[in-house]
Amino acid sequence: MKVAEIYKSVQGEGLLTGTPSVFVRASGCNLRCWFCDTPFTSWQPEGTDYAVDEIVAEIEEWDCQHVVLTGGEPMLFAELIPLAESLRASGRHITVETAGTLFLPVECDLMSISPKLSSSGPDAEQFPHWHRRHERQRFQPEVIAQLLEQHDYQLKFVIDHAGEIEEVEEFLSHFSGIQGDRVLLMPQGTTLEELQPRSAWLEPICIEHGWTFCPRKQIEWFGPVRGT
Ligand code: SF4
Repeated sequence: MKVAEIYKSVQGEGLLTGTPSVFVRASGCNLRCWFCDTPFTSWQPEGTDYAVDEIVAEIEEWDCQHVVLTGGEPMLFAELIPLAESLRASGRHITVETAGTLFLPVECDLMSISPKLSSSGPDAEQFPHWHRRHERQRFQPEVIAQLLEQHDYQLKFVIDHAGEIEEVEEFLSHFSGIQGDRVLLMPQGTTLEELQPRSAWLEPICIEHGWTFCPRKQIEWFGPVRGT
C-alpha cells in the first residue's frame, strides 16, 4: 500500500473533531478535485510502499487509541482490509475517510464519506482526460448505499458556493433514512481568509436544514501545513 505519511495530530474535521489520532495517508486517488488539499496524494502522488505489518508497527509507536485511514483514496488499496482488521483487534478506533466511489469490505468504527459535487472537477480545457474521468466516477450511488448500510457514518460535503446546497439536497434524496445530524457541510478553503466568509453563510444554512456545520479546525489550529 502506497503511503504518503503517517503522523499523530488532532482530528480537525467532523464528529470526532478534537480527538488525538494517528493518520495514515494513502497516496493515490481515482478523482482529481480542483480544490484538493492533499495534491501530494492525487495530482502528484508521492510516498513509499508499506506492508501492512510495517504500518501497524509504526502506529504502535504512538500511544493513541484513534486511527484515521485517509488519503488520497484509501479504498484503492485492498490492504486496507487486513490493516483495519489488525488495528481493531488491538482495540483501536478506526475511521476510514473516503470519497465514496469505491467499495471494500473494510471494518471500521466510523465511515467518513466525502462525496464530490458537480463543481469539484478539474478544468475541462486544461485537464480533459481527468475532467471526463472525474465526472464519470465521482457519484456512485450503489457504493454510497452500501457504505451507509454497513457502517456508522458521517457524510461530509465540501461547499464552495451557495448554489451547491440544492445539489446536496438532490444527493440526499437518493438515499433513505439518512440522519440530518450526520450530514456535515464544510466550507471550501485552505486559509482562514477563504474559510471565514463561506462559514458566515454556510452555518445558518446548516441550522435551517438540520445538518451539522463542520469548520476545518486544523486550519485554525495549524494553518495549511502538511502532517497536521
Ligand atoms: S477525492 Fe480527496 S484526495 Fe482525491 S482529489 Fe478529491 S480531495 Fe483530493
